[in-house]
Amino acid sequence: MGYAEPVSEIESRLLILRERIADACARAGRDPSSVSLMGVSKNHPPASVAEAVRCGLRLFGENRIQEAKAKIPACAADLEWHFIGHLQSNKVRDAVDLFRVVQGVDTLDIAEALAKQAAKRDRIQPVLLEVNVSGEPSKFGWDPDRLIEALPGLGGMDRLAIRGLMTIAPYTEDPELARPVFRRLRELRDRCSERLGTALPVLSMGMSGDMEVAIEEGSTLVRIGTGLFGERPVPQ
Ligand SMILES: *Cc1c(COP(=O)(O)O)cnc(C)c1O
Repeated sequence: MGYAEPVSEIESRLLILRERIADACARAGRDPSSVSLMGVSKNHPPASVAEAVRCGLRLFGENRIQEAKAKIPACAADLEWHFIGHLQSNKVRDAVDLFRVVQGVDTLDIAEALAKQAAKRDRIQPVLLEVNVSGEPSKFGWDPDRLIEALPGLGGMDRLAIRGLMTIAPYTEDPELARPVFRRLRELRDRCSERLGTALPVLSMGMSGDMEVAIEEGSTLVRIGTGLFGERPVPQ
C-alpha cells in the first residue's frame, strides 16, 4: 500500500492518445492493436524519451541525423527507431546504422544508396516510400504516378524490404480536409501492392492534429510529437 506515483505530463498525454486511438478504431471497426503509436522525439531530450519508455512506449521517430546520432545512444538500447525526415545521400550510412526503418524514401538514388549500405552490412533494410499525395511544392516525396513508374526498379532491389507508404498531410485547422489525402495514400498502397505482388502492410500517416481521420482511413502507424511530448523546444 502506498501513494500512487504522480502522473507525469507525458503519461497523461499518452493515456489521452491511447483513448483517441481506441475511439477512432471503434468508429472504423478496427482493432486498436492494428495502429502503432510512434513518439516523435525531435527537439526533445533523452529524458523525455525515457519517460515515454517508462510509460510503455517503444517506437520513436527522429527527422535529423545529427540529432539522432547524439540522442539514440543516450536512450534505452531496446527501442525501435525510425528515420522520418528527408534523407540526403551523404547521411545514408548513418541512417542505416542508427535506424531500424527508414521512412521517407523518395528517390531511386536514395533507395539504391540504402540498398548498397545494407548489402555492405549483409542486411535487408526495411523502408517506407514517402508520397507527396497533395503535390505541395514544399514537400518531399514521390508523385503518385512517378512512384508507379519507379516500382519495378524499387521492387528489384533485393536489399530493401518495402514495407509500405508514408505521407505528411497538408497542415489544416480542420483535420477532415486531410481525409482525401489519407484515402489516396491507402488506394495508392493497394495499387502498389498489386503491382509488386507483395503485401505492403504499413501506412504511416497521421500526426497529432489529424490522427483520428488517418486511422479511420487505414493508418497503421501514427507519428505523434506535440500530442505526446508537448510543444517542441526550439533546437539548440
Ligand atoms: C514532427 C513530425 C511529426 C509529428 O508532428 P506533431 O504535429 O508534433 O505530432 C510527424 N511526422 C513527421 C515526418 C514529422 O517531421
